Order: sequence, then C-alpha cells, then structure tokens
Amino acid sequence: ITTLALGLCAFSNRPPKQPVHKTIEQRIDSLMAKMTLDDKIGQTAQRGASSRVKGPLPEALKNAVREGRAGSVINVVDIDKVNELQRIAVEESPRHIPLIFARDVIHGFKTIFPIPLGQAATWDADIVEQGSRIAAVEASSVGVRWTFAPMLDIARDARWGRIAESPGEDPYLSSILAKAYVKGFQGDDLSKPNSIAACAKHFVGYGAAEGGRDYNTATIGQQMLYDVYLKPFKAAKDAGIATFMASFNDLNGVPATGNQPLLKGILRNEWKYDGMLVSDWNGVVEMTTHGYARDSSDAAAKAANAGVDMEMASNTYEKNMKALVASGKVSITQLNTLVRDVLRLKFRLGLFDDPYTEQPDGKVILTDASLAAAKKAAIESAVLLKNDNVTLPFAKTVKKIAVIGPLADAPHDQLGTWTFDGDSKDTQTPLIALQNMYGKDNISYAPGLKFSRDRSTDGFSRAVKVTHDADVIVFFGGEESILSGEAHSRADIGLPGAQDSLISALQQEGKPIVLVIMAGRPITLGNVLNKVDAVLMAWHPGTMGGPAIADMLAGIAAPEGRLPVTWPKTGAQEPLYYNHTNTGRPANKQNYVAIDSIPVGAWQSSLGNTSHYLDAGYLPQYPFGYGLSYTMFDYYHLVQDKTVLNMGDNITISAEIANVGEHAGTDVVQLYVQQMVGDVVRPVKELRGFKKISLNPGQKQHVVFTLNTADLAYHNQAMKLVTDPGKYKIWIGKNAAEGLPGSFEINEPVVKAPVKG
Ligand code: BGC
Repeated sequence: ITTLALGLCAFSNRPPKQPVHKTIEQRIDSLMAKMTLDDKIGQTAQRGASSRVKGPLPEALKNAVREGRAGSVINVVDIDKVNELQRIAVEESPRHIPLIFARDVIHGFKTIFPIPLGQAATWDADIVEQGSRIAAVEASSVGVRWTFAPMLDIARDARWGRIAESPGEDPYLSSILAKAYVKGFQGDDLSKPNSIAACAKHFVGYGAAEGGRDYNTATIGQQMLYDVYLKPFKAAKDAGIATFMASFNDLNGVPATGNQPLLKGILRNEWKYDGMLVSDWNGVVEMTTHGYARDSSDAAAKAANAGVDMEMASNTYEKNMKALVASGKVSITQLNTLVRDVLRLKFRLGLFDDPYTEQPDGKVILTDASLAAAKKAAIESAVLLKNDNVTLPFAKTVKKIAVIGPLADAPHDQLGTWTFDGDSKDTQTPLIALQNMYGKDNISYAPGLKFSRDRSTDGFSRAVKVTHDADVIVFFGGEESILSGEAHSRADIGLPGAQDSLISALQQEGKPIVLVIMAGRPITLGNVLNKVDAVLMAWHPGTMGGPAIADMLAGIAAPEGRLPVTWPKTGAQEPLYYNHTNTGRPANKQNYVAIDSIPVGAWQSSLGNTSHYLDAGYLPQYPFGYGLSYTMFDYYHLVQDKTVLNMGDNITISAEIANVGEHAGTDVVQLYVQQMVGDVVRPVKELRGFKKISLNPGQKQHVVFTLNTADLAYHNQAMKLVTDPGKYKIWIGKNAAEGLPGSFEINEPVVKAPVKG
C-alpha cells in the first residue's frame, strides 16, 4: 500500500499528462499502415454522375462506396443522399474513410453572383470574397465541401467561351482576386463545417487555347508562362488553396495532366505545394486522344507519375493501377504520395472528426443579406461603355419606358454559364424590377426576338409599336447563357441573331435607346454603337441582375465596373490585350483611330504598336480598365517622391482625383508601369496597383501608391526573377490607354571593390 501510495504520490507530482494530439501527418501514417493496395487505389477515384444525381442513389455508386472504391463523389447535392453515402463510407467501407463531396459552385450555389468575368470587372476583392463566402455557406449546407473554383485562367481571347469564367487578361488583377476567392470559399479555417475546399483550375494555360477554340493546344513561352499565366495560380497557392486541377490542354506539346515539369517541377518542387491535385473530367484518359498515351494504362501511369492524386470521371487508375504498381511503372512510393494528398485534404476539412452534414439552423440559402450582396456585386460589375447626352441615368422627366429585347425577361439566361444549382424561379429580371419601380402601366414590353440567336423578324412590328408612347427605349440584348462557357467558343462575337436589325427598326422611332448587354464575353458592336445612345455592359449578372440594372437606369445606383479585358472592335483582332510587347517597327500615325472620349494622342504614346490589320487597325473598341461613371473624374498633379532609385528602394507615386461632375461616383484609379528596356522584351504597360475610391461631387482624394523595386521583377532569358536597373515609365490613370505620366530610373547596383588582404 505504501509503495502504491508513494507511487501515486510521486505520479501526482508530475505535470498532468497532456492529451496526445497527433499531427495530420501522423494520423495519415497510422491510417496508411492499415490500408491495402485496393484501399489506396480506391481513394484516388472520384465517382458520381455527369450532372446532378436525381432520384434514388444508384446502387452501383453505393456499392463502390461500400467497397472502398471511391475517394470523392461529384454531383450529389442533396443533404439526405450525402449523409446516406457518407454513412456507408464511414460505417461499411473497409477503412471507414469519409468521402468528400464535390460540385462546380462557380459563381454562387443558389444565390448566383455575376459570372466570374463580371466579378473581375468590380475590381473589388471584398465583394468577390463575400460572394464566395456566401457560395460556401449555401453549398456546405447540403454537404458540398469542395468546389471546382476559382478558374484562374488568364483569358486574352474573347472568342474562347470560357472567358466568362475567367478573371480576365491581367495577371495582377487576377492574382488579387484569386486570393479573395480562396479566402471566401475556405474561410478562416478549412475544418469548419461551412468552409469548402477551393480548387485552382485549370493548371495551366487553358485560357491560351489557340484561336480561342476550347480544349485547343496552348503554346506559351517560359517567360510568359511565369510572368502571366502562372501568376494567379501562385497567388492562390500562397493564399493556402487546398486543391488544384490539371487542365485539358497540352502545354507546349505535353498534356497538362501528364506534364511532369509542370506538376512536379513547378507545382510541387518549386512552389512546395502539399495540397491535392485532381484531373479534369476524363482528363487522364483523354491523353490517349491527344496521342500522348498509348492506352489507358499508359495514361494512368503518366498522370500518376506526374502527381495527379485523384482521377475525375474516367477510371484508368482503378483499372490499371494494381498492374502498374506490380510492374514498377508506378512505384508504391508514388502511389502512397497520391493517397496521402487525398487523405491530407480530408483531415484538413475535418471530415474524419465530423463526417456528416447537419441541417442548418435557420435560413442559409438566398437570405436577404446574400441577395443584397449579389445585387451590390451586379452594380459593381456593370460597365458603362457609352453615355451620349447623359442618357443615363434617366432624367426625372422619363415616365414611360419601352422594354425590348430577348434578355429583358430571361430568368435562366441572366444567370450565365455554370449555374447548376441556381434556380430561374429565384431570379429577378429587369422587366419585373422596372415594372416594380415605375409601375406596370408605365412599362411597355415586347421582346421582339424570342431568344438571342433568333433570326425571325416576326416580333419586330409589335416591338416597334410598344415604343410609341415611351420616353425612352431600353434594349436588353447580348447572348443567352449557353453561348459562352465550356465548349462554347464563337468566331463572330457580335450580337447574335437579328438583334442588330431590331435595333435598326427601333432607331427609326427617333427616341433615345439604351442598350443593356448581358453576355459572357465582350460583344463586338460595330455599327450598333452608332444606333444607340448609351451602352451598359451587365455581363450575365446573376439572381439580382434585374433590381441592380433598374437601380442603375433610374440613378438610384451608378455602374462601377471597369473592363477586366480589352474590348475588341472585331473578333478577328483577337487575341487582343493591353499588356502586349512592342514590335521593332516605329509607330505609324495613320493606323490610329480615336475612340469615344480618349484622344488619339493618348493611345499613341501608351499602347503604340504597328502590328495591325489594314481593315481593323490594332486598337480595341475600349481599352482594359475602361468604364464611364455618371459623374466626371479629373486626374491631376502626379507626384513622385523620387526619380532615381537604388535596388531595394520604395517609390511613392500619387495623384489628386476630383469628382468634378454632379453625381456621387466610384472610380478605379490604376497604376501602370513600363520597363523601357529589358533582357527580354517587356510589355508596353503593366498594371501594378489600383484603388477603388468613392467621391461626392466637389470632393477630391489624394491617392498614393507605393512600389518596391521587387514589384517590378520579371523572368529574364536565364529564367531568373530579376528587377533590372534602367528607365521605367509610370502612369496613374483611368484605364490602360490614358493616364498622367511619370518616370524613374533604377541605378546600377554598386559593385563593391574586393577587400584587400
Ligand atoms: C470542366 C471543369 C469542371 C469539371 C467538373 C470539366 O468539363 O473543364 O472546369 O470543374 O468539368 O464538372
């Protein structure tokens, strides 16, 4: 007894025993030690259906889960079915490993925000973060814990259908938005039940598809790869994104899905990414169609050896992996690496500790706050392209409005591409919103065309007739949602169908015409521009597009968007982007054509290039960063704190911005830089900063940017990230084509004399 008492006494004098917290890696080790080869291969498979699983769960899917042949399930979006499958995985499968449920929640789950290209036009990281947070809360409420968003493909060709899903053409803006998306989807802690894993896709070069044709080959030089296409992906990685997706395209001849220099070399080794990597839909087996893999076994080996952890849709891993491991074509170490990545994601999401989805307390879908945020995003994304004679906002004298066009009351189409779960019945269209605002009797409506591609003129006379007692005509045109998105590239990116002819017919009435465009890409307008008085680009604005547009037309709100992509005059100019390089040929003045509101001189000095078309020049219709306001902003007094810098220095550059108009307004003040001479040719301009400011009439603001010499770094011929000494030009302006100019020089570094003795 004494011994025991002494022992106890001695024991109680020790510090209390801490509960053992195993790290995620230790928990993976313990689990992996129990897993058979089959268990491991099972974790690398994503199963499900190509669209939403409707009706009862298929037995084949349940069996696959029960037998441990599924790591993830895609497109099951129903809380009861999610929980049922999860129960089978956790209780009946050999290793009781939870599933992760995935879905394309691209710009909203039920509350649909503007398409991503529209969100990029907000130049507002906060609203983008808010939108993805709302999407995460809504989607996770039914058990979705993984979204295939954000798409971070730089897109410089508006013919490409997926430009709608992109953050636009600029690597700096895209990188800022990439971080915002990650923060929004993943929240502050990935293991919280309302956080969802984000996925940086499509890695990489998918947006550089030759000719803008989807899935096409991408040829990208090393410098451009690093300084443009990889940048938003690196930003997402640095923000802690949980997953990446390999793209469909071949990059410089090697399909991304089997591209070791890309997936191993850059993503894993250079960037030290330890998250999960998934293939795109059938991306592994498609390497056989590319002509890069002999058969499905070869495709599986190439993807696995490049580090693709999970295979979406096709089942080449399941069919071939055992034999590949046995023959040594895929080492067990490599397979273990893939499986560890999958398990790590599940641990990070907290799925082992809390696999089920609870019914949320109260309403989380389509809440008033979410709808208000979606409306704000639609207003922030809308770009006012033209506004002759102050047609917008409507004067107080405007009482009667003719609403025409195929998109005035198109609840499905205004949601845009990739809105699997958005319901048209929740959509508020412009027609309804204008009727609510002005009274039903004051809105005369005739679509004129049944849908955007409609070529029939049958509805024209009625459309013209309803304009007779209207004070103003608003034409809602553009593209139905299916004209952009995956596999929906277009060669002619003008207004489809008979929209142009209908606008001509309306023009005969001699009333002011406002063209509101809803589309997934810039739409070339040609002569239409001369037929209308104002143009508002609303993109596909989402659930709350109607009330947002009604508020903007009426002047209750003002459009705030700025173009995240260059707007061409014709699709034949594409790819067209502001941050191109110069040719060796000096500028030839004849090729410059003035555009609305921007003097020719500004273009010559800033975007000069002689690589042009005889019949279309090279200038766009509207430059990157462009967008009008209901008020006027004056930019003046550019001040720099230095003109000569040493390597490592900061420079501050500022300007005064004044609201000299009659409305309150929001402007996006943009900082551009040009390195005059480089080790490789450098872009004529590059965005290096922006600030969104709101000013009342008469108010002004001092806007300051700080740049460090490190912010000017690029990849030189030796593929080193360097900032060169030499001359730089800078501009603070409203868009890529006009701005207050300045310049500075970076000194050659002083070479220290060797210390003697
Ligand atoms: C698309 C991806 C998408 C996947 C799953 C593919 O066709 O390219 O972006 O996430 O399908 O739906």
